[in-house]
Amino acid sequence: MVTIDRIDAAILDIPTIRGHVLAMATMRQQSFVLVHVRFSDGSTGLGEGASIGGLSYGNESPESILSAVRDFIAPCLNGLPADNVNGAILRMEKAVKGNFIARAAVEMALWDGLARRRGLPLADLFGGAVRTSMPVAWTLASGVSSTDIEEAKELIAAARHNIFKLKIGTRNVRDDIAHVTAIRQALGDGIGIRVDVNQAWSMHDARWGTAGLEELGAELVEQPLSASDTAGMAELTASSRIAIMADEALNGPVDAQALACRRAADVFAVKVAQSGGLKRAREVCAIADAAGIGTYAGTMLESGVGTAASLHLFATVDKLQWGSELFAPLLFADEILAEPIRYSDFAVHVPDGPGIGVELDPDKLAHYRRDSRKSSLHALTN
Ligand SMILES: [Mg+2]
Repeated sequence: MVTIDRIDAAILDIPTIRGHVLAMATMRQQSFVLVHVRFSDGSTGLGEGASIGGLSYGNESPESILSAVRDFIAPCLNGLPADNVNGAILRMEKAVKGNFIARAAVEMALWDGLARRRGLPLADLFGGAVRTSMPVAWTLASGVSSTDIEEAKELIAAARHNIFKLKIGTRNVRDDIAHVTAIRQALGDGIGIRVDVNQAWSMHDARWGTAGLEELGAELVEQPLSASDTAGMAELTASSRIAIMADEALNGPVDAQALACRRAADVFAVKVAQSGGLKRAREVCAIADAAGIGTYAGTMLESGVGTAASLHLFATVDKLQWGSELFAPLLFADEILAEPIRYSDFAVHVPDGPGIGVELDPDKLAHYRRDSRKSSLHALTN
């Protein structure tokens, strides 16, 4: 019987191509945790855990993810049967509460390892892909309207993106609406405009904001209110023509069920990491589908590793009415994959090949990992 032999993890720090201005933080680099699992037959699996803006976004940081994986999850999984991913998930859920991103990173590596041993794409472990590519939005978040417009025009001309998500919430709501209006007018009809408020609005801001966004033809507003304000989200969903999307409020199937029961969203931003793993993210999609809520493949701004795993999972979802935002590898100043994920024709393409379908570039891994002196990290490169 093949068993889980060894689990290693390392933090990588990669600069972004520009400042990424969010309501809660400005990112100039992304730090993510790569997880490498070695199995007793010599096979391996790769996973990743990342958070947008670390502790300013949620309750996990790269450092906490690293510690949870190395000090708590690895010891309870070592020696378990490698092919029983469901069993490993239950063991992790029993031994480690919370820490969804850390658990998701390890689970991803277990699914990747199983798929590679079987010689199958990861999507086949979830019943097979129903699409080979999906629409991909780009996030405009330079903080300056004219810079965002220039960036969007270049991306439209390159046929890379025709859906844009604008990060707002740092300014007052009237100035934010003026910013969105300027971009809307510059890009014209036929280009999808969505906004992400990252919980920054009060209910009063949200009433004003959603009315302004409806008027200018934006199609969706993401997490306008605090993640804890389910009643407010339900009220907005009932009263707005523009689609209301839940993101930070949605941490796995239990939240999905509660939001669906309250009709507190029109759309779920489903994130593998935030859901607690690929399996739970698939369950979130099933709840959305049963409740008539649209789905959207969200990102925690993972590198190509986490992005590839998400692509495989969302390739298997029956409906993906709002497409994806799986663009993050393009936000980084360098590529850590040996072969980058392909973006063309306003879509992102699911990588072929066994497992998640991508491989790391060992030189890039060595260059960007935070602490190359630790011997436990060497396994990541061989
Ligand atoms: Mg969001």
